[in-house]
Amino acid sequence: CGIVGYAGPRAAAPSSRPVDVALQGLARLEYRGYDSAGVAVLDDGAVRVTKRAGKLVNLREALEGSSESTGHVAIAHTRWATHGGPTDGNAHPHLGGRDGELALVHNGIIENFAALRAELEADGFTFSSETDSEAAAHLVAREMEVAGDLTEAMRRTAANLEGAFTLLAVHRDAPDVVVAARRNSPLVVGLGEGENFLGSDVAAFVDSTKEALEIGQDQVVTVSADSVAIVDFDGNEVTDAKRYTIEWDAAA
Ligand code: GLU
Repeated sequence: CGIVGYAGPRAAAPSSRPVDVALQGLARLEYRGYDSAGVAVLDDGAVRVTKRAGKLVNLREALEGSSESTGHVAIAHTRWATHGGPTDGNAHPHLGGRDGELALVHNGIIENFAALRAELEADGFTFSSETDSEAAAHLVAREMEVAGDLTEAMRRTAANLEGAFTLLAVHRDAPDVVVAARRNSPLVVGLGEGENFLGSDVAAFVDSTKEALEIGQDQVVTVSADSVAIVDFDGNEVTDAKRYTIEWDAAA
C-alpha cells in the first residue's frame, strides 16, 4: 500500500538512522490505510527484516532495543493485503534468495505469481508467505546470482512480471543502493543533500526534501546517497525524468 526507500550517509546517530528515516516516512503514509508494516536494513553485511501485523506502534515496539544499524540503506512498507491474510509472515519486506541475501517490498498485484512460484520452488527456493510478492523477491535474488548487478537483476525480473507493481529491493552484495521498479503503480524519487529517497508518494519523504523526480512507466531506478540512475525495462538509459519541487501545505 505504501512504500519508503532511503539511501544516505545518515547512520548511528539516534533517531536519524536509516531505519528511523524509514519509519518517519511510514508514519506519513499511514493516511492511506494499511494492515501491517515492516522495514529492512543492512547491518554488518546482513539483511535484517522486522515486520508486524497491525499498526505502526507494533513495528516500533518490535524495533525497540534493536542494536544500532551500521548500514546506510532502508526499505519500508505498509501493507494492504491482497494475497494472504494480514499476518506477521505475510507482512513485507520479504526475504529473497537461497540465503536471505535480499529484501523486497511490493505495492500492487503480480498476476502471474503462481506460475513463477511453482517454477522457483522446483528450483529449490523456499517460500515463507502466501503473498504474490515473495515470488518477486526470489526472482530478483536469482537474477542477481547470474547478473551480479542489482539494477540488472531488477530489470530482468520486472520485465517478466504481469500486473501492477512498485518494487524496492536491497541486497547484501550491493550495500549502498536501493533499486526500484514500477509498472502501473506509482514511484517517486526524493532528491536530498548527500541522501536520496524513494516513495509511493511524496508524503514518504516530504519532511526531508521538496525536490522530486517522477519515475515513468516500466522503468528501474537505482539510488545511492549521491546518485540516481534510471533505465527502462529494455535497459535503455532514461535521461528525461521530470524534476519538480513539491508544493506542500505544512498545515495539511
Ligand atoms: N499484493 C501484495 C500483498 O498482498 C501487496 C499489497 C500492497 O500493495 O500492500 O502482500
